[in-house]
Amino acid sequence: MDERQEIEALRRELEQANYEYYVLDNPSMSDYDFDHKLRRLEELEAKYPELVTPDSPTQRVGGKVADGFQEVHHRVPLESLQDVFSVEELEEFDQRVREALPDGVEYDVEPKVDGLSVALEYENGLFVRGATRGDGQVGEDVTENLKTIPSIPLRLPEALPSLIVRGEVFMPKKSFERLNEERELRGESLFANPRNAAAGSLRQLDPKIAASRGLDIRVFNIQWAEGRTFTTHSETLEYLQQQRFKVIPHDTCQTIAQAAERIRAMGEGREAYPFDIDGAVVKVNNLAEREILGSTAKFPRWAAAYKYPPEQKPSRVVDIVVQVGRTGVLTPKAVVEPVRLAGTTVTNATLHNQDFITEKDIRIGDTVLVQKAGEIIPEIVEVLKDRRPEGTEPYHLPDHCPVCGAPVVRDEDGAHIRCTGAECPAQRLRHLVHFASRDAMDIEGLGPAVVESLVGAGMVQGPGDLYHLDGEEVAKLERMGKKSAENLLAAIEKSKSNDLSRLLFAFGIRQVGQKAAKVLAARFGSLDALMAAGEEELTAVPDIGGITAQSLISWFQSPQSRHLIETLREAGVNLESHEAPAGDKLAGKTFVLTGALERFTRDQAGAMIEAQGGKVSGSVSKKTSYVVAGEAAGSKLRKAQELGIPVLTEEEFLALFEEA
Ligand code: AMP
Repeated sequence: MDERQEIEALRRELEQANYEYYVLDNPSMSDYDFDHKLRRLEELEAKYPELVTPDSPTQRVGGKVADGFQEVHHRVPLESLQDVFSVEELEEFDQRVREALPDGVEYDVEPKVDGLSVALEYENGLFVRGATRGDGQVGEDVTENLKTIPSIPLRLPEALPSLIVRGEVFMPKKSFERLNEERELRGESLFANPRNAAAGSLRQLDPKIAASRGLDIRVFNIQWAEGRTFTTHSETLEYLQQQRFKVIPHDTCQTIAQAAERIRAMGEGREAYPFDIDGAVVKVNNLAEREILGSTAKFPRWAAAYKYPPEQKPSRVVDIVVQVGRTGVLTPKAVVEPVRLAGTTVTNATLHNQDFITEKDIRIGDTVLVQKAGEIIPEIVEVLKDRRPEGTEPYHLPDHCPVCGAPVVRDEDGAHIRCTGAECPAQRLRHLVHFASRDAMDIEGLGPAVVESLVGAGMVQGPGDLYHLDGEEVAKLERMGKKSAENLLAAIEKSKSNDLSRLLFAFGIRQVGQKAAKVLAARFGSLDALMAAGEEELTAVPDIGGITAQSLISWFQSPQSRHLIETLREAGVNLESHEAPAGDKLAGKTFVLTGALERFTRDQAGAMIEAQGGKVSGSVSKKTSYVVAGEAAGSKLRKAQELGIPVLTEEEFLALFEEA
């Protein structure tokens, strides 16, 4: 066999092994052999680059998508489904169907995978394009990321001229738990549920990331087929199975009562699926009958999604623990006896705050109903009071911080209870984790575990100390080592050149979130300019209100903050904004735009005003500084004239910027 033939033979073998492993779940080739053969194929393809084809097993993980995803207009729209929430509603659906089809119908029942819908296009048996559902008509081209999903065949046994298949991409529950564990260790934000995680993974510009996320698919429909006709839906699913797709599990039912029974059983057995399900789908099986029923503007009349209520289970509250957050807020959490819910083991539930506990009267020892409905942390629905043991007491949050012992106070206008200890170690720890987190200073490798050991070893007390770490000392820490220590120090070094907006957010000043930090950095250009700003200047910035301004001023006044800023400055941390500083010529001025402007849209005019520190408002009042009136201005212009507010033409408006 010459090398060209060997290439072809290796591809077939690898394709087959892949299919057995990922689709049939019945591997016949060892991992070792697979890797070996893949390597050989890569070598040969490097030698004969002209022989590389897009469906080769070596091509699953390609290069980055340069600038976002292209739009894809779906040949056949990816429709939504009508929801039913009870057996009665299901029977009503059946009645509507049978009015159009009095001779009786057969139904197909499938689990409703809680992932995201995609369309896979094949031409002459080759996978050419895959797109997200988008709004059903237009989606995004995510071909490169879909190719990394090993259960999606790149080549089909039968080469129809054109075939479009619809399926649901999901993150298996196991991969999801692992991914979130890893993210937690790295101090990154967690995905709320497998669906969000799958969506985030499919929209990565770098297919390597998508490839690492362990995504999978179940296909459930033929959208379009040229060169084949089918009579029933079940037949299409069988065909897809022969074409080596991973097909949705499905059952045919002769009556709606049978279908309802299947749905009930599916709901009870939902744990066993590797994916989350949020319902079951009932579909008319005969394709000609589907044509008769047709679709409404939104969904087909021949299918319905039966939605399961969020799963609830009883468990016992064994303890209530209180954590102290970065801003000193005491957050209570119920520790419950482990219980399986929606595919994960639940061991604690959020209690929000004292008001929530009081309202539901949750006590240690109580049996409670726990529910998981898409959030990361499950919640308590109700206390099963008839199962309350004797001797329980109403629960009250401690009046002293459980970490530093300082007294706590309740926020004047809210439900939060806060530690007053300025030096509270718990706050410090959280503060450091926040400082290093991805949206703040983005210091890779500085997650909660590492922060804890740095603080524990006395090397770090506040963020300033990070910039004076001794690499050798760090390497001696438990679970560290030379290499990780070097990486950590390099990441810290790198963070010195971050934009000011990241640093501002990293400070964790109350009220100053990511957005405010960006606006402030862009407006003032440097930390020194921001520190010098008074309340009036601050509140003149769009989106910055009085409370935020006060919070900034008092933060900058505190000696600890001053000390921190000086430490950072000495260490060479960048205190400037990378963006060109915006002007302030219109600071404190409020504009109302009305009528049709000629040279720019209202949004553009608004952006120009904001870039100079002005504000745009939708209605004219005494506080309005100027009204800019375009063609056919109406009531707002009249109001301005009544109130005697200066009215500018477009030219006069532009002149303001020339002065600026
Ligand atoms: P909805 O978005 O709630 O109207 O539900 C429709 C969505 O359910 C579609 O976008 C499908 O992607 C998804 N889905 C999941 N599993 C299935 C299935 N077995 N049959 C049809 N649609 C499904």
